[in-house]
Formats: sequence, C-alpha cells, structure tokens
Amino acid sequence: MRTAIYPGSFDPLTNGHLDVVQRAAKLFDRVIVAVAKNESKHALFSQAERVTLVKKAVAGLPNVETDSFDGLLVEYVASKNARAVVRGLRAVSDFEFEFQLALMNRKLDENIETIFMMPKDTYTFLSSRIVKEIARLGGDISQFVPPNVQAALVKKLKTS
Ligand code: ADP
Repeated sequence: MRTAIYPGSFDPLTNGHLDVVQRAAKLFDRVIVAVAKNESKHALFSQAERVTLVKKAVAGLPNVETDSFDGLLVEYVASKNARAVVRGLRAVSDFEFEFQLALMNRKLDENIETIFMMPKDTYTFLSSRIVKEIARLGGDISQFVPPNVQAALVKKLKTS
C-alpha cells in the first residue's frame, strides 16, 4: 500500500490544491490531505474548519482521506507508514522555499521523498491568499474554489 501525504495550511482549499490531490490519487493507493495547524500563519479558518472544508471537497475520491496534524511533518508521515510527501509547484517562485523544505525534511528523515506536482496551467496563479483577497473585495471566486469553500468564505467574511 503506497501512501502519500499532502500537507499544507489549506486556508482554504482551492481548485489548485484539489487538482494536485486528484493527480496524486492516480499515482498512490492512498492519499492523506494533512491540514497543518500552522500557528505562524494567521489563518482565517480554524484547523477544524479547514479539515471540514477539505473533507467535503474530496468526498468523491475513494482513496483520499483528510486528517490534521501539528508538529514535525516527518514524524507525522512516519506515523502514517508513508514515505512520500506531495507538494504543489505553481511557478519558479515556489521553488526556492519548497526545495529548502524538501531537503530539510530529508535531513530529518532519510526515508522520506518529496514529490512535486504541477497543477493544470489555469490554476498556476491561484493561491489561498489571493482567493481570500478577492472574496474580501466582493469578487466572484466560484471558478477558483469548490462550492462548499465558496459558501464558507462568504459566510466567514460576513461575520469577521
Ligand atoms: P503551505 O502553508 O504549507 O504552503 P498551502 O495550503 O498554501 O500550504 O499549500 C500547500 C501546498 O499546495 C504547497 O505545496 C503549495 O505550493 C501547493 N499549492 C498551493 N496552491 C496551489 C495551486 N494553485 N496549484 C498547485 N499547488 C498549489
């Protein structure tokens, strides 16, 4: 059973993330989308809310699960009997940070490999940050996020 972990903040999940999940699900027997607590980033949605949003969005993918984690990624990966970490690469600008992260994780645990996946070209400009910004300004985000995320964003921005 080949398991891959796709970690991230997912604040909130976008169609770009979903595209990476779908691609990973074709390559691995089991994919776990692991929602990080990430105290350093001021998240709009709580970790529990982010997990609920991902769960609903991946419900149609039988070999994809959603989980949350806190602490060291390599320890979480080992606890799931996985060896692969999936990360998305949108542009060259992502590369430097992702490269550093992958090599650091390898230093911490030699057994773990990071797999980079490129989303469909139309999603390369998408980020959670930009989607939140457009939603805040009242723009239409329906083509960038799954319907449940769109509804949650509208609701959250009304109350915050
Ligand atoms: P993090 O805070 O860990 O960077 P994100 O939720 O922002 O978490 O992203 C998780 C992963 O998904 C990262 O590898 C990021 O590069 C990737 N990613 C984010 N947006 C997209 C997108 N539109 N297409 C492909 N990959 C993406």
